[in-house]
Amino acid sequence: MKAIVIGAGMGGASAGIALRNFGWQTEIYEAVAQVKPVGAAISIWPNGVKCLNFLGLQRQIKAIGGDMASMAYQDYQSGQILTRFPLRPLVDRVGEFPYPTARAELQSMLLDEFGRGRVFLNKRLIQLEDNGSQVTAGFADGSTATGDLLIGADGTHSMVRRHVLGHDVKRRYAGYVNWNGLVEIDEAIAPANQWTTFVGQGKRVSLMPVAGRRFYYFFDVPLPTGLKQSRDTSRKDLKRYFTGWCAPVQRLIEQLDPMATNRVEIHDIEPFSTLVRGRVALLGDAAHSTTPDIGQGGCAAMEDAVVLSLSLRAHSLGVEDALRRYQESRVERVTSLVLKARKRCDVTHGKDPLATRQWYHSLEHETGEHILNGMAETILGGPL
Ligand code: FAD
Repeated sequence: MKAIVIGAGMGGASAGIALRNFGWQTEIYEAVAQVKPVGAAISIWPNGVKCLNFLGLQRQIKAIGGDMASMAYQDYQSGQILTRFPLRPLVDRVGEFPYPTARAELQSMLLDEFGRGRVFLNKRLIQLEDNGSQVTAGFADGSTATGDLLIGADGTHSMVRRHVLGHDVKRRYAGYVNWNGLVEIDEAIAPANQWTTFVGQGKRVSLMPVAGRRFYYFFDVPLPTGLKQSRDTSRKDLKRYFTGWCAPVQRLIEQLDPMATNRVEIHDIEPFSTLVRGRVALLGDAAHSTTPDIGQGGCAAMEDAVVLSLSLRAHSLGVEDALRRYQESRVERVTSLVLKARKRCDVTHGKDPLATRQWYHSLEHETGEHILNGMAETILGGPL
């Protein structure tokens, strides 16, 4: 059996490995000449790590993951700790560590494992045809590829999604802009093995350790969409948006490299329940685009890859039947992740200022139990 995967992001690469491991001949076709992930780093929560373990990458993900032993929220002005607690109880409960990871290293790990020789670059899908027994992908350079199954892992602007749903879907602006990058660990900003978040004014500044003594940092600011953006002005912009914030935040703004700081307007897509059509399946952001507020978009893409491969392996009534079962297994899970992230997004970013103030207040009484319960529920909802 042969699978054609469209898109070499974390979803496509994970699907490629999962199907290859189950004996499928698998090829990945990617639109760009060099896969450049949006964003500097990503938190792989234990549900995602378990998927990577399942794919055979247990040692590799541990090697590139940061050591995140505790979690803290701090007041934006005074820098005072509102709550701080260890993450070990979460690890014990869900059975795996979280690993914040630089995106470039994650991407390399996945593509190396899949085998770069079977990743075809500069292959932009422009059409596809499913004749009931095979699927043929047509690329912008005039070439084609045919397989028993096609996986659309072509991200939030997916072209395969149009084929599966029969119409386009609109992305929804979530109301905030995110800046992110990597910086050398400096304990005057935050402890080296802690996920630290400064909160106030509906904004946040967060730092997570990744391997190589680096912090993954991000800043969120509620803003209208479509503002002019340039890396040249990002330090100046951040200084303006974070005027009056405490010394560690100012120090971070001074230390970051503005030319290596990404600026992303955050969107999601209203969840939909059709993930497959005939021999074509959607996976990752093509199937469910979420705001990053619970750090689950990429983890869900890896879950998709695992469930899709298990479904194809476990059922013998044909590809179309196995894909329908993949859809049945995933729709509820991915819908709940998108909606949970949207809810968290609104509280974090001051959509209802009273709710946000109540959340800040609740952090002062947080022992870790409530937050860790919420995280455990999300993680344990995964397939492994
Ligand atoms: P993508 O990574 O978008 O890959 C799609 C690929 O398809 C691209 O390489 C693209 O070039 C290719 N492609 C597109 N169109 C075509 C075509 N027509 N033909 C061929 N190829 C095509 N998730 C987490 O789990 N944890 C986090 O902490 C986290 N933080 C985030 C922070 C931010 C700021 C953002 C924006 C997202 C975050 N996410 C996080 C979400 C995560 O980044 C995505 O869910 C994940 O990258 C989706 O992977 P994917 O492979 O589905 O799509």
